[in-house]
Amino acid sequence: MKSGISKSLNSLQRKSLLARMGSEPYDLLVIGGGITGAGVALDAASRGLKVALIEKRDFGSGTSSKSTKLIHGGLRYLKQLEIALVREVGRERTILHRNAPHIVIPENMLLPIVANGSLGKRSTSIGLYAYDMLAGVRRKERRVMLSLQETLQYEPLLRKEILLGGGLYKEYRTDDARLTIEVMKTAAQYGADAMNYVAANNFIYENNVAIGVEATDSISGQQLQIGAKKIVNAAGPWVDELRAKDNSLKGKKLHLTKGVHIVVPFQRLPLQQAVYFDVADKRMVFAIPRGKSTYIGTTDTNYKGEIDHPTTTRADVDYLLKATNYMFPSIHLSIEDVTSSWAGLRPLIHEEGKGPSELSRKDEIFYSPSGVISIAGGKLTGFRKMAERTVDVVVKQLEEEQNRKFRECFTDNIVLSGGGFDYDDAIHSYINRIKIQQQFAALGISTEQVIDLVYKYGTNTTSVLDLLPQTNTQDSLDMRIAAAEVMYGIEHEMVTNLSDFFTRRTGMLYFERNNIEQLFPAVEEKLALMLGWTEAQRDEQEQVFRLEYLQAVSFE
Ligand code: FAD
Repeated sequence: MKSGISKSLNSLQRKSLLARMGSEPYDLLVIGGGITGAGVALDAASRGLKVALIEKRDFGSGTSSKSTKLIHGGLRYLKQLEIALVREVGRERTILHRNAPHIVIPENMLLPIVANGSLGKRSTSIGLYAYDMLAGVRRKERRVMLSLQETLQYEPLLRKEILLGGGLYKEYRTDDARLTIEVMKTAAQYGADAMNYVAANNFIYENNVAIGVEATDSISGQQLQIGAKKIVNAAGPWVDELRAKDNSLKGKKLHLTKGVHIVVPFQRLPLQQAVYFDVADKRMVFAIPRGKSTYIGTTDTNYKGEIDHPTTTRADVDYLLKATNYMFPSIHLSIEDVTSSWAGLRPLIHEEGKGPSELSRKDEIFYSPSGVISIAGGKLTGFRKMAERTVDVVVKQLEEEQNRKFRECFTDNIVLSGGGFDYDDAIHSYINRIKIQQQFAALGISTEQVIDLVYKYGTNTTSVLDLLPQTNTQDSLDMRIAAAEVMYGIEHEMVTNLSDFFTRRTGMLYFERNNIEQLFPAVEEKLALMLGWTEAQRDEQEQVFRLEYLQAVSFE
C-alpha cells in the first residue's frame, strides 16, 4: 500500500514541481539522482518521509549509466575474501530480479579456466560453489564445471591452446540507467518529488546545522532554496565536492578509478553467452553479448582528472582490444570495429597503499557536524541495502528529534515500476498478449519490437504503445514507436533532451548507435513539439547531442 500522493516524473510539470520544492519543507532532501540517491528516495518515501531529490544533470547520467550493467555477486570480491559483501550483493540479485524482472535478467556466464590464469580448476570449482552458496542461488541455477571439450562447445571462439576447462554460472544483466529511472519512478509513486537538471550549489545553515540548499534549475535558470530537516549527499564521484562545500571533507576520502567499456557489432564477436576472462595483467574482463552488439569491459585505472566528463582514451581501447583478441584469436578486432563506448568513475573509499582493483567496493556513511549525511562506495547491485542503512540513520535521528515514528524498511517487497508481472515467468505471456492485442497486431508490430520494449518498460509497455495513435502515420513503424517512447519518456521519465532519450532511457547511443540517424527526425520533432523548443533551441540541442554521438567513438 503506497503512502503519500503518487506523483510522476513529468517534464511538462517542471514549473509547478520547482515551485513546490521551493516552498515545502521536506523531511529529507537527497542530492544526486544516480542509483544510490534513487534508492534512498524510494526507501525514505515508502517509510512515510516527505522526500525531495535533485539531480544536477539527468537521472543516472553519472556512474549509474557507465557500469558493466551486471547485477552480480562480484566473483572477484570472493578472491579478495570480502565474504560479507559477496553474500549481501548475491542475495540482492534475487530480490532485484523478483521486483524488476524486466530489467534484471538471469544470464549464463562462462568463466574459462586457462593455463597460468588467476584461477585453477579446483579453485574455480570451490569459488563458484561458495559464490552460489553465499548468494543463496537456487539448486537448478547453480554452477556447472565444464571439461575442455564442453567449454569449447559453449564457446568455440576461445583460445584453445591455453584452455583447461571452464565454469558456467548465473549472473544477472541489467540496464543501469533504466534501473535507476524505474527506482526513481517508484519513489515518485510513493510521493517523492524528484527533479533532474537541478543542482545543489551551497548548503544553507541555521546555528551551524544544514537546513537546506541553494539550487539552480539549469533548464529555466531559476534559483531556489529547498528546505529539509535532513540532507543526504548521494553524489557518487562528486560526494567529496559537496563534503568540501560543507567544510566536512576530513578523514576518509574518495578514491576515483576509471572504467571503460567498448561496444562492437555482435557479428564481429558473436559469443554464445557472456564470458568473464583473464587478462595478462591478472585482471579480468567481461565480454557480454547484448542484442545486435557485444560489449567488452572494463578497465580499472586511477583517476585524477575532472569528474564531469571522463573520456575513453586510445590506450583504454587498445587494452580491451588486445585482451579480447588474445582470448578469442580468430576475431581480429580493430579500432574500426568499435561502434560505441563509455567511461565511468567508481566512487570508492581510499585505502592507503591499495591499487585500483584491490580497493574494497564496500559502501560507507560519512557524518558531518552540520548534520549532512554522505553515502559513497558500494555497487549498483547493493543499492537497496545501502539505501536501507542510510535511511535507518535518517529515521533514527528524526524519531529522536521529533518524536515521530516511521515504519521499517520494506523495499525488498516493493515491485519496481514496470516489474508487476503476475508470476515468475510471466514476461513471455505478457509479450504474447501484447502481440495478439488487436490494436497492436493491426499495426504489424513484430515480436522483436515487442520484446525490445518489454525489456525496457516492463508492464508499462502498453502505456507506451497506447501513444502510437498520436504519432505521425506517415512515418515508419520504428519511427512511430520511437516517437511514442519519447512521449512516454517526457510524461513519465522526465526526458528533457535528445541525450536523455537516446543515451539513458533507451541505451541506443551504446547498443544501437547505427539506428539513431534513422529515428532522429521523429524523436527530435516530438521533443521540440512537446517541450516547445524554438528553432534556436532545437539547433542547440542537436549540436549538444551530435557531440556526444561523435565522442562515443572518438579516442584521444
Ligand atoms: P552516480 O551514479 O554517479 O550518481 C551521483 C549523481 O549525483 C550524479 O548523477 C551527479 O550528476 C549527481 N550530482 C553530483 N553533484 C550534484 C549536485 N551538486 N547537485 C545535484 N546532483 C549532483 N556495480 C554493479 O553492481 N555492477 C556492475 O556491473 C558495475 N560495473 C561497474 C563498472 C564501472 C566501469 C564502474 C565505474 C562502476 C561499476 N559498478 C558496478 C559500480 C556502480 O556503477 C556504482 O557503484 C554506482 O552506479 C554509483 O551510483 P551513485 O548513485 O552512487 O553515483
